[in-house]
Amino acid sequence: MAIQQTDKIWHNGKLIDWDDAKLHIMSHVVNYGSSVFEGVRCYSHDDSPAIFRAREHAQRLLDSAKVYRMEVPYSTDEIVQAMTDTVAHNGVWPCYIRPLIVRGYGEAGVNPFNSPIEVYVANYAWGKYLGHGDDSDRYTGVDVCVSSWTRMAPNTLPAMAKAGANYMNSQLIKMEAILNGYVEGIALDANGYVSEGSGENVFIVRHGILQTAPLGSSVLPGITRDSVLMLAKELGIPVVEGIIPREMLYLADEVFFTGTAAELTPIRSVDKIAVRDGSVGPITTMLMDEFYGIIRGKKRDRFGWFTPVPVPAKSKQPVGV
Ligand code: PMP
Repeated sequence: MAIQQTDKIWHNGKLIDWDDAKLHIMSHVVNYGSSVFEGVRCYSHDDSPAIFRAREHAQRLLDSAKVYRMEVPYSTDEIVQAMTDTVAHNGVWPCYIRPLIVRGYGEAGVNPFNSPIEVYVANYAWGKYLGHGDDSDRYTGVDVCVSSWTRMAPNTLPAMAKAGANYMNSQLIKMEAILNGYVEGIALDANGYVSEGSGENVFIVRHGILQTAPLGSSVLPGITRDSVLMLAKELGIPVVEGIIPREMLYLADEVFFTGTAAELTPIRSVDKIAVRDGSVGPITTMLMDEFYGIIRGKKRDRFGWFTPVPVPAKSKQPVGV
């Protein structure tokens, strides 16, 4: 979906015009991929914006920056404030929020230390990511493949950091999947175990046990993954974070993706092998009911997942999602 422009973008503490958020072509990030970023969703609760797990996203952004030795002059709270200020000013929600830290214009060589750190927060309208349509078919699973591309090997590009450069690998996974007629690809790690989708964590259910790959299998520590683990605990579903052999994807009773964009998306086939009879299984359904209930504001937010954004009455801009 094309980006729908909003009014302002937060840059180093100030709201600037969308069209002024520009970088020079010789910026470090353009040449060497030196960026870390977040993808955050802001929902509509009682007609007001509510940001999902804002603090956890802000913290992961700063964690990613730390790995890459980027000195960011903002705290977690200040990043959360930047997100709320941007959403409040632009008056566009539900929306996607994109905090982004890049190494800007300064040095031509690979040494990153002499290029300035630029911090941005943008927001824009965005709807469903994977799948075919709207809410009515949320419970229809997607068809995926195992990618021929391996996720980054340990000690190459750190998977725990959400860095722009990791998404070159994601693009290879995504392009291959699309060109072969699948919605998404699941990459294996360097040891051949299940890692993650191009932009999602993967869960499977077998014999009533919910399983997801450990952080050591080159996965991003997904915030939706964490939310599902919290829900599973509350619902009394047994959980294992352990390495998953590829063939488990074919033998699982249920398989699903989690992610900010994908939210909780059931998978109905892997490499053309059906998961169950192709319908969504009972544990996935239970988790989806809770998850979507909370994010839509229909079930109580007992985990404190939402940061409300104070907005003046009637400030909402029309969006075409
Ligand atoms: N893995 C990758 C590679 C991702 O890009 C994402 C999306 N940020 C995820 C997993 C899921 O993470 P989250 O639930 O925090 O969006």
